Amino acid sequence: MRALILGGTADASLLAEALSQARLDAIYSYGGRTRAPADQPLPTRTGGFGGAKGVADYIRREGITHVVDATHPFAVEMSRNAIAACGDTGTPLVALERAPWARTAGDNWIEVADIASAVAALPENRARVFLAIGRQHIAPFGTRPQHAYTLRFVDPPEGALPFDADVLVSRGPFTLEDELEMIRSRGIEWIVARNSGGNGARAKIDAARALGLPVIMLSRPQLPDRPRVESVAEVMQWLGHRACLGA
Ligand code: NAP
Repeated sequence: MRALILGGTADASLLAEALSQARLDAIYSYGGRTRAPADQPLPTRTGGFGGAKGVADYIRREGITHVVDATHPFAVEMSRNAIAACGDTGTPLVALERAPWARTAGDNWIEVADIASAVAALPENRARVFLAIGRQHIAPFGTRPQHAYTLRFVDPPEGALPFDADVLVSRGPFTLEDELEMIRSRGIEWIVARNSGGNGARAKIDAARALGLPVIMLSRPQLPDRPRVESVAEVMQWLGHRACLGA
């Protein structure tokens, strides 16, 4: 067995730890978006494969027998390419993906399907808006320049941003107290977020609920059907091993 872990998430790091403790043969793959990604206890490769064909070539060249897609639920290009490449090479694939957050009492969500709808859902009058959506998706918000935007990135931005913004450079996960402090100190009135699910990114949603703020919530993009599990333990079972961690 030789597994390829498509990573870049907290869940992928937990899985890497479990695989390492079980002494399983696995390679961890980073997309290369962050300059100093967390060290992994597995052999690691970094950067795109070159589309679905590149993933298929990699699977054949490296003798990969199982692929675990543990990318962020909004990393749809990578996930689509993995589905195509595994289909092409006949390699078993499973997605490790937390369930989306569900709206609870006190949440004031406007659920939207895409970035254009998120832009359109902002109020007409000037507001202070926290865009928690990843830097490659921010440009369309430049069409609503009346708002004061706050952005938060893991690395300082390279080059000019598409509009003026208050930029925070900080790596999560963030606690509820962190998020309450950030929102209050900047007078944030609206939040735009992706429905990532899991605990690592949810403190801002809990903070919005506590403060009664509206959240424009981007729904998960649709992907072709694929086997999907929600825990590291289930991935380990899928690979035919018991998890060494209580994950
Ligand atoms: P994307 O749009 O689906 O991917 C764009 C391209 O980047 C892919 O087609 C692929 O290039 C390359 N790529 C993405 N993930 C890769 C991986 N794990 N290994 C090798 N190549 C990868 O993805 P994205 O939304 O830009 O996200 C990029 C990475 O950041 C993902 O690994 C994702 O898990 C991570 N991420 C983490 C968080 C978080 O909150 N922890 C949030 C967002 C993204 P080729 O076509 O050349 O193969």
